Amino acid sequence: MLLPDIGMQTVFQFQMTMELHIFCRSCSKSICCTCTVLAHKPHDYADIKLEAQLQKQDLTQMSTALVEKEKEFAKICQDLLSLQDRSQHHKKELVEQIKASVKEALRKVEEKGEALLEELEGLYTVKEVEIKGRIVQTENVLRRIEASRGLVDNMITYAAWKEVMEMQDFVKSALRQLQSEQPLNMDSEETTVRFIQTTQEPSELLGSLVVSNCKRASAEQKEKKKTHSTEKKNGIHDGMRRTVPNELKLIFRPYCSNVSECVTGPYFSTNRGTHSC
Ligand SMILES: [Zn+2]
Ligand SMILES: [Zn+2]
Repeated sequence: MLLPDIGMQTVFQFQMTMELHIFCRSCSKSICCTCTVLAHKPHDYADIKLEAQLQKQDLTQMSTALVEKEKEFAKICQDLLSLQDRSQHHKKELVEQIKASVKEALRKVEEKGEALLEELEGLYTVKEVEIKGRIVQTENVLRRIEASRGLVDNMITYAAWKEVMEMQDFVKSALRQLQSEQPLNMDSEETTVRFIQTTQEPSELLGSLVVSNCKRASAEQKEKKKTHSTEKKNGIHDGMRRTVPNELKLIFRPYCSNVSECVTGPYFSTNRGTHSC
């Protein structure tokens, strides 16, 4: 601080040689006796030892007040460390659950694939047997037509009048019979098997991750208990207060094939409840 005028400069130099027994509260500085009648005359000042004692008491009070704060922070720090522990542990569990779900889904997919191939084999075996039967029938008719026409050609070329008259009845009957044979209608024979690909998303096969707030869940649980029993109300409240706020919990919800009835299935992620699947 700049001292005013040449006179004050002299006072300052004088003060340097005097002992500073007094504390001026107005200026927050130690001063000598002389100053109390000069520059600091209208100010609020007191004995420096007394002032120091008061300051010590103030400091002690403030430091004591911090003990509670320290405990509070230590408790939260402990809770956070245990939250970190639980979080890491829970993450490991989720990883295992997802891996198990993937394994199970792959097993089911492979099982279903094998069942499809087996079903396809069965369908085509029946189809091929039927086609083979039709080919044999058709070839048989073709052979008979060929043989009959050969016979007619031979009769026309080589047979005598008498032979023609003897055979014509029988040959005509065979030709009429062949004429009445109907070829297979290929339109009605052609049945097809189609493969329809799934439109399901992988999440529907594996499950999904659901984030829920433990504090909110606890509060809801508390509300539930409150309606059933009022006796343990206080105990529950104390327990709730000790939890670290906003602890988020990830739940892995495996896919449930019984979607229409399952309240924990992927389509009902906001619902809660127990389910046996
Ligand atoms: Zn002085
Ligand atoms: Zn002063």
